[in-house]
Amino acid sequence: MRAIPGWRFLLVIVLPIMLATLSAVGLTYDLLWQVETSSNVAERARNTMTLQEVFDTDLAELQRITRENARWEDAVRQTAGTVNAAWFRSTWGQSISVGSVYDIAAVVDATNGEILAHNLSEKSDSASFENLAGLSFANARNGIALATDDSQIIAGHVITHWGPAAVSIAAIRDPVNGLAANGRYLLLLRAYSERRLANLSRRHLLMGLHLDTVAAESQADLRLQGLPGAKPLHVTWLDKNMGAFLTRSGWQKSALVLAFLVLVMSGIAIVCLRLLRQLSEKEEQASYSAAHDHLTGLSNRRSLMTELKAMAGQPHALLFADLDGFKEVNDSFGHEYGDRLICMVAKGLEQLTPKARLVGRLGGDEFVVLFEGMGGLPRAKECSERLIKMLAQPFNMEGRMAAVGVSVGISQAELGIDENEVLRRADIAMYRAKADGKNRFSVYDQSFDHERQENIAIAMELKKILDHRNLDIAFQPVVSARNGAICGVEALARWPKSSARQVTADRFVAVAENSGLIDQLGALILEKACAAAKAWPHIRLAVNISAVQLNNPRFVEQSLNIIASHGMSPNRLEFEITETSLIQDAERAKHVFKALQGVGIKVALDDFGTGFSSIGYLRRFQFDRIKIDKSITSQLLTSPAELAVVQGVLLVARGLSLEVTAEGVEKEEEAQVLRLAGCTELQGFHYYKAMEAKDVTHILTQNRAQPPTLTQVVA
Ligand code: C2E
Ligand code: CA
Ligand code: CA
Repeated sequence: MRAIPGWRFLLVIVLPIMLATLSAVGLTYDLLWQVETSSNVAERARNTMTLQEVFDTDLAELQRITRENARWEDAVRQTAGTVNAAWFRSTWGQSISVGSVYDIAAVVDATNGEILAHNLSEKSDSASFENLAGLSFANARNGIALATDDSQIIAGHVITHWGPAAVSIAAIRDPVNGLAANGRYLLLLRAYSERRLANLSRRHLLMGLHLDTVAAESQADLRLQGLPGAKPLHVTWLDKNMGAFLTRSGWQKSALVLAFLVLVMSGIAIVCLRLLRQLSEKEEQASYSAAHDHLTGLSNRRSLMTELKAMAGQPHALLFADLDGFKEVNDSFGHEYGDRLICMVAKGLEQLTPKARLVGRLGGDEFVVLFEGMGGLPRAKECSERLIKMLAQPFNMEGRMAAVGVSVGISQAELGIDENEVLRRADIAMYRAKADGKNRFSVYDQSFDHERQENIAIAMELKKILDHRNLDIAFQPVVSARNGAICGVEALARWPKSSARQVTADRFVAVAENSGLIDQLGALILEKACAAAKAWPHIRLAVNISAVQLNNPRFVEQSLNIIASHGMSPNRLEFEITETSLIQDAERAKHVFKALQGVGIKVALDDFGTGFSSIGYLRRFQFDRIKIDKSITSQLLTSPAELAVVQGVLLVARGLSLEVTAEGVEKEEEAQVLRLAGCTELQGFHYYKAMEAKDVTHILTQNRAQPPTLTQVVA
């Protein structure tokens, strides 16, 4: 399995997850921070309000009580002169134990601030107002003078001898009767002792509650109403910091949520990682299938083109192989066997080419091998030879033998040609190998291109010719070796003279074979030959049959129909078939021959002595005749080896009771040698060239009147 690139994983999964987690943490932090700040602000405001209220209420109450006690007729009377100590103790001095609104009550002399009566225990220390409140009474009383309300009362917070306290002072008088104890004031003091402050702290959930003349920095602070002339008092305390408390618990919960989030994200990351892996596996599979042939696992056309492109400018050679006769295997064995055969060929090809840069299948029965380097061409040639040899052996397909051949084209890299051209050239060279008789290789040459263009043009024209049934047929008489009498004619197709071009029979027959026109061409030739041969009922008619025609499953049936439609006796007919064509599908050929011979049509082995001829062949197929090729005949007089071949063949033929015709007889000497060796019939320019049907008729009528000579030649 291919690993996912680290950066990709980082980019696609880890980074977003980290970003998401970080932003979650950031958002949470921001939220909690806001909660903390705002709840701290709210807490401080609330505490400030509470304390303000507490101290204000205390002071107001102290003020109220001071007012009520100072406006009293009896009080005026008892304090105006020498203060009645007993009265004082029983009234103001006693009240302390009853309520706790004030701790200290005193009657103060306004002139010097002396305390005239009080409920204090340490008398000496607190004999004067100044001792008590830390400021001169005159200063404090100024406030009374400034007070606008009729009560002539002042109150405020101040640091006293007993620590911080609320102090309230009022002139003692009786507004009802208009009496006043002049210069006498009632002072009530409520001390904020440690205990009281602790109580307050507890009640209002405040810590470090403290009163002082200086405001403590970084602490909550409330400025209290002071006494005139005195430094103002500040209440300071420590907020409980509810915000922090909230955030703390918030953080705890957030930590849980975050932990959960991280867990979920990790889960997602793992799932994503798996998905990514699967994806890259699929991608890999897809790119493998995109570059390989699904059946054989070889490279496909696409990878070939990529490789060829990559090798542009470097020397290389391309081998292009196309199986011959694969279609027949497919048709007669079935596609499953066809596929198996393709796989076997692929495997064999791979074994043959361990050093190739690429071995591929372009589809169907087309294979390619790419060789790199200067040695590419010789290696491609060697590989072609070995491939042809390998495929010459029939394949054993579970007991059934299948034979295919192969035609190979080779092209080479060249300056200025691209990958498509390299492939096209190999393809053209392969077609050339096929046209040359298959089971061979050919190396691309520029002339092939011209030839191919021409072949295309020929095929197009041939199609028209066939549609118009415009083909000409020439007949070449075959004579008896014994007396020179015409015993048959061979029908030879001729390109119509009306055409602007001249095309030899070899050429247009090959074009027809390669362009799917051969069945139509063969049928037309047979028809025309039969039609013409009606005029010569006493001689044999030989017709050439292309190997490709044997692949047509209706070949026998169609041929018999044509023969019958012309009222031709099958016994007069002979089909000539070249030996190379038989190799491809021997079983099929045998089958066709049997069918033909069954109705009386004879079968001749044409072009004997070229290609793959062997005596074994003659035994395997039950031919009626052998036609010794003109290339052998032409060498008879000069080459003893060729003569030996002919003599050997004739011996075997006699053993198998085969007739033997020698073609291409151009000289009387050749005719003599052949006659002596045992040839029964002779054919060649020495006797007759191929001629029009009417000329055959003419010769035949002449010959009937006048017995032929052995050397009669018709130009
Ligand atoms: P083939 O069947 O071997 O035909 C004999 C060829 O040899 C003919 O050439 C004929 O004109 C030529 N020939 C005959 N006597 C002599 C001679 O003394 N010296 C020389 N040098 N040549 C001689 P052609 O007509 O050009 O045909 C060439 C080949 O084309 C034939 O070879 C055959 O393979 C193919 N062909 C011709 N007509 C047909 C046809 O109707 N059907 C098929 N399937 N193939 C045909
Ligand atoms: Ca022939
Ligand atoms: Ca021949």
